[in-house]
Amino acid sequence: MPRMPAIFVGHGSPMNALEANRYTRTWATIGTTSPRPRAILVVSAHWYINYAAVTGMPRPRTIHDFFGFPKALFDIDYPAPGDASFAEEVAELVKPTRVGVDRDSWGIDHGTWSVLVHMFPKADVPVVQLSIDARRPFDWHVALGAKLAPLRERGVLVVGSGNVVHNLGAIDWSRTDEGFDWAHRFDDAAREVMTERPADVASLQSHADFRRAVPTPDHFVPLLYLAGLATADDRRAQVLVDGYAYGSLSMTCYGLEAECPKTTDESPSAALPDPSTIPAEDTNA
Ligand code: ZN
Repeated sequence: MPRMPAIFVGHGSPMNALEANRYTRTWATIGTTSPRPRAILVVSAHWYINYAAVTGMPRPRTIHDFFGFPKALFDIDYPAPGDASFAEEVAELVKPTRVGVDRDSWGIDHGTWSVLVHMFPKADVPVVQLSIDARRPFDWHVALGAKLAPLRERGVLVVGSGNVVHNLGAIDWSRTDEGFDWAHRFDDAAREVMTERPADVASLQSHADFRRAVPTPDHFVPLLYLAGLATADDRRAQVLVDGYAYGSLSMTCYGLEAECPKTTDESPSAALPDPSTIPAEDTNA
């Protein structure tokens, strides 16, 4: 089995699923330059619940967990198979931490498929999601991420999908490809930690801009899993692509041993819905 990379993807707007820009091209490049995985394990911001579980259904459904977007986005189907025995393997690996196997509730949400449609457009690699247990502190997620490290030797691509800076309430529609000063400060601090001392990632909670950059933990927590994987191997993460969208989202992606030449593409992230038609807090991007 080849040793697999691990990544954290800033997924931004679900519309990135339909577009080609510097972020989605980077995701596609990671897909084509990585060894073919046996399975993909995704920690998505959008499966944020009160327990830890992995999806164990053979044919996970494509979940369209957002509102106010064009029909073309709701028409996307990502028919990757599941892998029940792999789900059991994950639950076994992380014991005594309890991770349940979900047989029929979740599936593949847009935090996962909006990225995988670019990385693995044929949807021919089994996909299993690991939920975010919302009850747990950051250090618990870092430790669980570290426990997943042996999967990288077993042909598994581990993906965290969220956004380091994600504040929908602060979106500025005029700043298509820019970030607020506070977004830059927090994203820069996260970059310093991830590329120099990822074991300290939970310390970002005490950063002066944490509350504005991370008003809710859901999009930030997937980064903690990559930090845990980095810590387990005493490695530092590298930045694969970076940038901002609408002032209050950062699109930064990190990798561990991911082959991905930096793109010279400058095209911005996809748009969110027209704010005149839907309140920002309902876009659930
Ligand atoms: Zn999202």
